[in-house]
Amino acid sequence: MYKPVIGLEIHAQLKTRSKMFCSCVNNPEVRETNIYVCPICLGHPGTLPVINKDAVTKVLQSGKALNCELRDVSRFDRKNYFYPDLPKGYQISQDRRPLCFGGYLEIDKRRIRINRIHLEEDTGRLVHDEKEKCSLVDFNRAGVPLMELVTEADIRSADEARKFAEELRLIFRYLQVADANMDQGQMRVEVNISLSHMEGRKGTRVEIKNLNSFRAVYHATEYEIKRQSALLEKGERVVQELGKQDSGSEKTEQDRCRDSSQAPRDRGSKLLFRDPIRRPREKEKRSRIRDERCKKKKRTSMIEVPYTSVKGFYPFWMIGLKSSFFSFKMQLEVSYAFLYASFI
Ligand SMILES: [Zn+2]
Repeated sequence: MYKPVIGLEIHAQLKTRSKMFCSCVNNPEVRETNIYVCPICLGHPGTLPVINKDAVTKVLQSGKALNCELRDVSRFDRKNYFYPDLPKGYQISQDRRPLCFGGYLEIDKRRIRINRIHLEEDTGRLVHDEKEKCSLVDFNRAGVPLMELVTEADIRSADEARKFAEELRLIFRYLQVADANMDQGQMRVEVNISLSHMEGRKGTRVEIKNLNSFRAVYHATEYEIKRQSALLEKGERVVQELGKQDSGSEKTEQDRCRDSSQAPRDRGSKLLFRDPIRRPREKEKRSRIRDERCKKKKRTSMIEVPYTSVKGFYPFWMIGLKSSFFSFKMQLEVSYAFLYASFI
C-alpha cells in the first residue's frame, strides 16, 4: 500500500501600484503589449533596483496571517538562468533568507505546515504565434512582485490540495494583498507528488507546473496519484520528471526528455548569489532596528484573518447559523462580511 505525499508551491502576483523594483505600473488587466517597461525592469546595465515597500508589507501581512515567523533581516538573491522572457538573464528572488518561514494553515482540522513565503519578481510573457511560426515577448509582466509560498509535503489527497489553494486565495483576497484570479495567471499552483510506502520508504517526486484552476489542481493530482500507484503495483519505477497539464483533458502529460532537476529554471537555482540591492554588513544593524519598528507597526495595523476570526467569533455568530442550511463556506463569507464591516 502507498501513501500520497504532496507539497504545493503557489505563486501569487501582488496587488501593488508599481512593479517590484521600479516605478512602472503594475496592471495585470492591460491589453496593449510592452507599454509598462523601463531600463530597470528590462535589466539594462548600470540600473539599480529599488525595493517596493508595499510588496514587502503585503508578504509580511500574509505571513502573519499564516502563522509564520517574520525574519528580522531578509535578503535578495539573483537566480541566474537564460530564458527569452527574462531580459536580465537573472531573476531577483530570495533563497536563504525568505521574509516569512515556518507557518501553517489548517484544512479540515489538520495543520498543513508552510515552509516559507518569499518575494521575487515575475518574468515576461511569451506568446507563441502558430500562424507566423514565431514567438513574441511581452515585458509588461516582467518585474511584477510575485509572492511564492512553499508548503511542507503534508498534504495527503487531491481534495486537500484543492482546499488548501482555495483557502489561501480567500485569505489573499481578504487581506487585499492579491486578486489571485487563476484564469488570468495571477495565481499559479505547482504540485509535487510522490507515493511513499506505508513502511516509510520514500517515492520519486513528480512536479506538475502551472495549474491555473482549482479544478486542474484536483484532477491533475488525482490523475498523478492513480498513475503512480498503477506503475508501482506493476513493479515499475516512477521516473523523476516534470508534468504538464493537458488543457483538453484531465490527464497529465509527462515530458520524459526533461527530468525536473534539468529544467532550465530549476537548473538556474544552483547559480545563486546575493543581489547588490542593499549592502549587507554596515547597514544590517540599522535596518534591523527599522524592521523591528516596521513589524511593531504592522502588528498593530494587522486585521484579523478569516479563519482565526471564525474561531474567535464562533460562539457569537454560531447560535443563529449553525442550524441553518448554509454551507460552511457560506458561514465563512457571512462572518467575513461582518468582520469587514466592523473594521472599516
Ligand atoms: Zn520598469
